[in-house]
Amino acid sequence: MRPFSDERPAADPNRRGSAFPASHELATGPVKSPPVTVDGFVQEFLSELNYGQGVKLSQSTINDQYLALARTVRSYLMAAWLETGHRRRKNPTKMVAYLSAEYLLGRQLGNALLSTNLISIAEQAMHECGIDIAELRAQEIEPGLGNGGLGRLAACFVDSLATMDVPTIGYGIRYEYGIFRQSFEDGRQVEQPDPWLRLGSPWEFPHPERAVTVGFGGQTEESADEEGRNRCRWTPERQVRGVPYHYMVPGYRNGVVNTLRLWSAEAHEGFDLQVFNSGDYARATQAQTVAENISKVLYPDDSTPQGKELRLQQQYFFVACSLHDFIENTLPGDFDLQNLPKRIIFQLNDTHPVIAVPELMRLLVDEKGFDWDEAWAITQQCFAYTCHTLLPEALEVWPVELLGRLLPRHLEIIYRINDDFLAQVREAFPGDEWRVRRMSIIAEHPQRSVRMAFLATVAAVKVNGVAALHSQLLRDNVLPDFAELWPEKFTNVTNGITPRRFVRLANRRLSGLVTEALGTEEWVTDLDLLRGLEPLADDAAFREQFRQVKAANKNRLALVLEGRDGLVLEQDHLIDVMVKRLHEYKRQSLKLLHVVSLYEGVRSGRLPIERVTPRTVLFGAKAAPGYHLAKETIALINHVAAVVNEDPIMQGRLKVLFPANYNVNLAEKIIPAADLSEQISLAGKEASGTGNMKFALNGALTIGTDDGANVEIRQLVGDDNFFLFGLSEPEVEALRKEGYVPSSYYEQDPVLRATLDLIGSGHFTNGSRHSAAAVVDNLLHHDPFMALADFQAYLAAQDRVDEAYADQDAWSRMAILNVARCGFFSSDRSMRDYLDKIWHA
Ligand SMILES: *Cc1c(COP(=O)(O)O)cnc(C)c1O
Repeated sequence: MRPFSDERPAADPNRRGSAFPASHELATGPVKSPPVTVDGFVQEFLSELNYGQGVKLSQSTINDQYLALARTVRSYLMAAWLETGHRRRKNPTKMVAYLSAEYLLGRQLGNALLSTNLISIAEQAMHECGIDIAELRAQEIEPGLGNGGLGRLAACFVDSLATMDVPTIGYGIRYEYGIFRQSFEDGRQVEQPDPWLRLGSPWEFPHPERAVTVGFGGQTEESADEEGRNRCRWTPERQVRGVPYHYMVPGYRNGVVNTLRLWSAEAHEGFDLQVFNSGDYARATQAQTVAENISKVLYPDDSTPQGKELRLQQQYFFVACSLHDFIENTLPGDFDLQNLPKRIIFQLNDTHPVIAVPELMRLLVDEKGFDWDEAWAITQQCFAYTCHTLLPEALEVWPVELLGRLLPRHLEIIYRINDDFLAQVREAFPGDEWRVRRMSIIAEHPQRSVRMAFLATVAAVKVNGVAALHSQLLRDNVLPDFAELWPEKFTNVTNGITPRRFVRLANRRLSGLVTEALGTEEWVTDLDLLRGLEPLADDAAFREQFRQVKAANKNRLALVLEGRDGLVLEQDHLIDVMVKRLHEYKRQSLKLLHVVSLYEGVRSGRLPIERVTPRTVLFGAKAAPGYHLAKETIALINHVAAVVNEDPIMQGRLKVLFPANYNVNLAEKIIPAADLSEQISLAGKEASGTGNMKFALNGALTIGTDDGANVEIRQLVGDDNFFLFGLSEPEVEALRKEGYVPSSYYEQDPVLRATLDLIGSGHFTNGSRHSAAAVVDNLLHHDPFMALADFQAYLAAQDRVDEAYADQDAWSRMAILNVARCGFFSSDRSMRDYLDKIWHA
């Protein structure tokens, strides 16, 4: 039976034609590169609306308009995207593959408008159509495919790499649900799924024809090949399809568009039609569900590994897809893999993608027929590893039992890598079996596990920390044996942030002022030029303009918070901001103690109300859903806010605001409005921080400990322009050795005692002592992050803040110097460092 006998068989969907006329390579229709006229833009927008969305303007919804605008703008990036790809294929050079399980991209439309230089044309064009572009921009749901700093860093890095025209592919996962949406019920965090794809996603391009198959489970067997050599064959038990979705990563007005390739998991073989027809719908779609679960949701866990099988599946899934994609689809067909290190460096963003190391070995040895030693020599030149933590509990390990069950061949490969490596250690340190055990990639206790950071370190060309202090501590405390064996392997690259999104887009007013003052907009891609602002710190007229910018940004934030959360921002207050993931080591509880100490001081008469600087403390933070203490801290902050904000005794001089669902978009609104940036982690715990950089570059002053990149910020801006407090890292270590006894601070410091007692009394929790107890008990009896040890110094530093803020002119001077001296924290500089020290691309 051949019902369509005259239909010819479909071609391989991957086939590319070859005999096309060169004159037809690109459409010549409307010229797709700026400059463009407002009228031309209007026509294209209407064309997208009519023929893309299928509606007339008068019938269109806001979502129609948003999608049509997004498609109009993206079409201007498209020619550059094609051209960039063409240029890279014609003149192949070493590429950077950034492997990251997270990309916290933020909204795309604004960035696309900025990079194409279409902001004002699009604004006018929408105006002519009777549309408020701000309303359309507000329509976009940001792709929240990351938890916090690590994912945002990846997004900043790919932005800089495109702006610097570095051939890059970003590889990651297209989570169907990104980081959860946070709301509060009775002050407590409630998590909802983040349906970021629900209204359509105009920024992604699926390529199902380029799908990759990935195996899981099953067995391995050895057999001899034709030449009599032992070869291993892995027969997976089940397979999953990885479908790539491409995202444009535009450089800043340079005609470059790089690609971010995110993988979505699908069932290898749809659903079971026989079972479906027999009526068992659940079983029929079971395989599909299991497969799709792999890219269903981002793990909302910032820094502690969850022993979750699905998470390991996610990691292997995206890494296997990415390596396959690069080797089979990106390199030319006849490529000699001996030369792989000349063409690629895989940068491992933390340990999440480290399973790529045994995967590359498997590809080279099992599938391409390389000898083990040859393959290892290649592999060792193809990876570099960035470590992002100092917390031992955040160092990822996978139980051997789980890894062996899911990826039996990879476990064998890891064992062999480890055997060879430990032989090397024995040779370097004969008789030192204790060292061998310390350095083994396989941990024996508490259960047999693979230490992913060790595997990464053994395989990598370079291992880097993310700030000067962090890299030092990485060598001294986290991987000391490895640093002793391979001192030259270790290096530092201090993190950075993209000035495009976090200054130019987020702070248009400051950007305008800076451009006017410097007489050029070059600073957007050469942030060191901000140095030129230094003399203006002494110019009273400039300081006044600078204050006006801050005031206008506060006004904008007030509108945002009013509309979004129904919160009232007092625009004449000192805006004191702590926004970041909620974690004990970051010490939101210390900030809360400061707030309560002010309130308690006024209540008890210790502190005259006139001496309280009118101040709004703004928190933003999500807690991992399973992180009990973090969620209790959120509830307590909200309870304190409810009482303090309403108590007439404060005469409106102290407000605590906690808008829910802190994300990139909110960061872009909050940070430009901030006066004071809270960076108060216990010294030696924050690897770098990038929030600290965003604030300094937007003219907020930092109150901070000597931790992470705070150290470098302070060195650059100068002690006079930074509020330093608290124990130093060596002092923390000494105190830990001596034994930290939090209750001794409670007993010796009456202010601390009164503060904790007021919280403990249930004053903020409707008389319930119980609700505040988790937080107070922890601070008094456990707290490895020593909040109470830094309490007094923190309050003293806040007094210095008040004093400095009282002299607005002097404050502005300090803030301007912060902006002028922080050009170093551009992620463009970070990328230059990676290129010079690690990639040599
Ligand atoms: C920058 C950023 C972070 C990281 O903040 P840190 O203060 O460095 O922890 C987290 N989340 C969002 C949305 C950010 O933009």
